[in-house]
Amino acid sequence: MDDVAQVRERTDIIALLQEYIPLKKAGRNFKSNCPFHNETTPSFMVSPERGMWHCFGCGKGGDAYTFLMEYEHMEFPEALRFLAKRAGITLQEGPRSSALTSRKEKIYELNRYASSFYHYILTSHQAGSKALAYLTERKVNKGALETFRIGYSPASGRSLVNYLLKKKDCSEEDIFDSGLGTRRNGRLVDFFSDRLMFPLVDHRDNVVGFSGRILTSSSHGPKYINTKDTPVYHKGEQFFGINIAKEHMRKHDQAILVEGEFDVLSCFQEGIDNVIAIKGTALTEAQVRLLNRYVKKVTIAFDDDSAGQDALVRSLALLEETDMTATVLKIPGGKDPDEAIKNDPFAFKQSLKNDVAVYDYLLEKKVASLDMNQVSSKKELGDFFLPLFANIRNEIIKEHYLKRLSVFLDTTYESLVHEMGRHVKPKRDNPVEVVAKDKRPREEVLEEYLLALLLQSENVQLQIHTGEMLSQILPKQRAVQKVLHNLWDFTSRKETTTPGSFANFLPSELFETFNTAMLYPLGNFANSEGMMKEAIGVSEELRTRHLRQRLKQLSLAIDDKEKDAEESSELREEYASILAMLKK
Ligand code: ZN
Repeated sequence: MDDVAQVRERTDIIALLQEYIPLKKAGRNFKSNCPFHNETTPSFMVSPERGMWHCFGCGKGGDAYTFLMEYEHMEFPEALRFLAKRAGITLQEGPRSSALTSRKEKIYELNRYASSFYHYILTSHQAGSKALAYLTERKVNKGALETFRIGYSPASGRSLVNYLLKKKDCSEEDIFDSGLGTRRNGRLVDFFSDRLMFPLVDHRDNVVGFSGRILTSSSHGPKYINTKDTPVYHKGEQFFGINIAKEHMRKHDQAILVEGEFDVLSCFQEGIDNVIAIKGTALTEAQVRLLNRYVKKVTIAFDDDSAGQDALVRSLALLEETDMTATVLKIPGGKDPDEAIKNDPFAFKQSLKNDVAVYDYLLEKKVASLDMNQVSSKKELGDFFLPLFANIRNEIIKEHYLKRLSVFLDTTYESLVHEMGRHVKPKRDNPVEVVAKDKRPREEVLEEYLLALLLQSENVQLQIHTGEMLSQILPKQRAVQKVLHNLWDFTSRKETTTPGSFANFLPSELFETFNTAMLYPLGNFANSEGMMKEAIGVSEELRTRHLRQRLKQLSLAIDDKEKDAEESSELREEYASILAMLKK
């Protein structure tokens, strides 16, 4: 067995996936809401026996490797190493091992070098003294500086590139691809120059990119520059500080979201350790998914200005799609957490303790800013809150806020509900309840369902019986039909069958169909008899449908062949016999 197969074999897929998503037992399989598309009814199935997963909503599926590649955006070599380590298997080093260093890992390595380089320049080199003085002025202490590996990119234009080329044997191509270097007049130069450097480290401790801040307002360019998109860095998917905060977030079951790096540093220095920065103008879907893995509660501490409030409102709809609760930290005496903490750390911590539910916060704030005696103010309040409240998933909470709003607007709850109807966006497509909502032709859906029933019941009698009903009638075109024929063939020759022994009998191109059927979410049957009845019912319907289809084809062919007497009479005979079968 090669490494890949051995590692797969030794990986308990249920234990692995449970580290990322909650799994519930469902018959012989496990199920969950799919982490790859939005849904409220679980259609994501995992089979412990097969070591496979499949989502019947969005169609994604695979094994432990593909799960990590989809969920953690790992490349295959990284997933292999990760699972090998987890299973305690030492991978065989061989000629293939260099190929096992993926593109992404190469970039992580360069970023690690760059991070150490920048940090060294800041803390130990003369060139970094100006930046160090700036940090001291902003009261960043040595502990924070070390923990977050803050650095400085010198202004000389090529110092990092030279360091990577000469001291670390990196190639120009790799430096360019990592975003650390850029080409100017055909020459490779440093991308970051004369900036304070914040490494962006992901939750798996990979340095994915950098955020560079100018030191003085007289410097050129925007205040912050981030690494351009690379194979490992995608704008809006990261949080600054998550590598440091993640365990504390888990422990507190709460994440505090701030806007910028200095907010994180100030909180950290005050012992508030579950803080991360969103590094953008609003939460993104990728960020919300990441948060959802660690906490049930998100406390938002964005800047107390209009941009910060916009960011808050725009983040709400995404948070509503999860079961996380959102609260707001009212920033005391300052425009952002950094400033507020410097003014009065005690007041800030008090405010953190007294965080308020996000909709209460917004209602209070908005009402305070309006003259509620004016009709126009009432309209503004309604226009602002109705679309927000329409997104609230929990009906009890929704009703609570609509009632509160109705008091401010001096109207009835019922008329608000009516008015809100205009703000409800059409729900996103949510393909679940496999058989009922499947849009494919009914025969296809039924065949898939029948195969799942036959395989998962492991009832040989049932397999033989349905074979007698259908094997002469069912075509052998689609993969599911082929697996069904293989199954009937197999059971007619064997005394006992297990799904495993049958799988070994199948040609490899049908494996995927087999695995999907093993994962198919069957309803709850009271007993095996119920399952048998269902399978026979489905077989009868399939039999009728395929016979009728054949009749239709025959009658067309008969019309066509009217001149050729001999052929035509053969067709008529077949027609009559099928008609007889249908009547039976
Ligand atoms: Zn899905």
